[in-house]
Amino acid sequence: VVVGAGPAGCMAAKKLAEGGAEVLLCEEHRSVGFPVQCTGLLSQRALDECEVSDACIVRPLKRARIYAPSGGCLCIGDERTRAYCVDRRILDGEMARNAVRAGARLLLGAHIRAVRPHYEGVVVEGVYDGKPLSLDARVCIVAEGVGGRITRSLGLGGVKKVLSGVQLEVPYSPPDEEGVELFLGGWAPGLFGWAVPSHGGQARIGLAMEPGLSQTSPHEHLMRMMREHPALKEHLASPHTSLGFVLGGIPMGTPERTSADGVMVVGDAAGHVKPTTGGGVYMGVRCAKMAAEVALMALDDGDTSAGTLAAYDRAWRGEVGKELSVGLRLQEFFSGLSDGQLDEIVAALAKPEVVHVINEHGDMEKPIELARRIASKLGMSMLPILKALLFR
Ligand SMILES: Cc1cc2nc3c(=O)[nH]c(=O)nc-3n(C[C@H](O)[C@H](O)[C@H](O)COP(=O)(O)OP(=O)(O)OC[C@H]3O[C@@H](n4cnc5c(N)ncnc54)[C@H](O)[C@@H]3O)c2cc1C
Repeated sequence: VVVGAGPAGCMAAKKLAEGGAEVLLCEEHRSVGFPVQCTGLLSQRALDECEVSDACIVRPLKRARIYAPSGGCLCIGDERTRAYCVDRRILDGEMARNAVRAGARLLLGAHIRAVRPHYEGVVVEGVYDGKPLSLDARVCIVAEGVGGRITRSLGLGGVKKVLSGVQLEVPYSPPDEEGVELFLGGWAPGLFGWAVPSHGGQARIGLAMEPGLSQTSPHEHLMRMMREHPALKEHLASPHTSLGFVLGGIPMGTPERTSADGVMVVGDAAGHVKPTTGGGVYMGVRCAKMAAEVALMALDDGDTSAGTLAAYDRAWRGEVGKELSVGLRLQEFFSGLSDGQLDEIVAALAKPEVVHVINEHGDMEKPIELARRIASKLGMSMLPILKALLFR
């Protein structure tokens, strides 16, 4: 049984079915991909990992303008496509269809409440069509998203913290129709704000922030950013006309364990989200494939005990563990900086030789590798950053 038909759950179900397992994919909503809780900014690598067509692509994106709190701008990118704005409803729908085509059964409107270890497997309990649902399974992959209720009830621990994300889709004339804009500093304490061009004349404008770092609600922060940010307000046709609203949590930090007897946890529920950007589709899907592979081996061996399934913990920690832990330290470091310190860092990064490194080696899915290259390029001019580190 797979719980949750988001990208991570759909991919786990697809890979299990392709491997010959009998799979039931349970989704609490009556349709897949709704409500949307995402900006839909995905790299080519993420789309490839999702194994989908280009039907979900709204527009290609080539450049980024990163605004320092005081308004200074770091412009990166060129004529190469670096990312896509996608429609998550179409993406998730196609991923669910792919799972079904591979042989998985999809049960919509099935809300799972508990997963309990049972002799040589698990019992998955919930409600379907107003009636109690009880399923015996050899393995359950929990892909329940950021809520993580089942994960915590299994005693696996929770993610370290959850950032608040809020976004509006509004009429907007961007300065660059093929570029995203990011807004650093007090506009969105703890992460950043963004404007991502979507359908013609529209953009997804939002922010993610750490609620504990401000007394003001994320929604009020967003309204203030749209009203007052010098780079944003002049391109907004009408800040009060909203064509779409997104509200959701972004998990950071992984639970202590992501496997137990008969159970593995994937995606947002496992904290598989890049802490430096809040993007979770690529890593969630990548790790879901690892979980499916371990499940298939365990089913083959007839041993789905915690000891065997711990191979999944080891696999994802080996591949993305460092990206996640270093990313979390970076996110915490940047959250502690003042607007003045962020201004200095953006100014240091705007040097042509650094922009060249970013353009040549920038990879949305590997921000830590890029940070390492930038640090070695900056050398002595890292001083403002070091100063910020020492005196924050
Ligand atoms: C504002 C915002 C913007 C974002 N922008 C981006 C972005 O641009 N790029 C990016 O890569 N990531 C982005 N993310 C993160 C991204 O949306 C998630 O990382 C991704 O959706 C996680 O996939 P998932 O399959 O783990 O969980 P989800 O997509 O949340 O899917 C979980 C599914 O499980 C179902 N479910 C939950 N509990 C149960 C239950 N008990 N029984 C049955 N079904 C259940 C839910 O209904 C849901 O369908 C953003 C997040 C937010 C909040």
